[in-house]
Amino acid sequence: MAIRPVVIAGEPVLHERARAVEVIDDEVRELVRDMFETMDAARGVGLAAPQVGVGLRIFTWQLANEDRIPPRGVVVNPYLTSSKPVVGDPDPHDEVEGCLSVPGESFPLRRGEQATLTGTDLAGEEIRYEATGWFARMLQHEYDHLNGFLYVDRLSGKWARKARKTVKGNGWGVPGQSWMPGVDRDPFGHDDDTPEEERAD
Ligand code: ZN
Repeated sequence: MAIRPVVIAGEPVLHERARAVEVIDDEVRELVRDMFETMDAARGVGLAAPQVGVGLRIFTWQLANEDRIPPRGVVVNPYLTSSKPVVGDPDPHDEVEGCLSVPGESFPLRRGEQATLTGTDLAGEEIRYEATGWFARMLQHEYDHLNGFLYVDRLSGKWARKARKTVKGNGWGVPGQSWMPGVDRDPFGHDDDTPEEERAD
């Protein structure tokens, strides 16, 4: 098991559609073990394989919920449907999102309140979960990663402009940058007491 570096916006794998997993073999199982370890070290609530530089359709999560979904899990080759976000500006306090691949930053984004996830677990068994609220938000964030989108690509108006400036100002948006969870300073300043809804994915 190993913590893997988390790649930062600009790395091509984050901006391309990830490939389907054809067979769940030892390599995939090792990747998933490493993703859990990396997500934990980063104190994230979710992590998609492209964020550790692997363009495969897999993501993990660690997020308590009231939807009766296992709080810790992985999905392979997911398919997600979500309800349309309610029209209007996102609340700059209550609808804020962060991403481990845009480390230390956060911006408000409106998401659909409900989402339905299907796919398989690591044993190849089919799963189907109905999610709401924060869990639905996390699922939409991770699923976007597998389709080559970061949440900053979805922002609107002044938040989109601010995010573009921020990415540029940090020297991101170009390939070859990463950070090491558990080694580098936690970019969000999180510690083990940080509530899950304030964590990034
Ligand atoms: Zn993310």
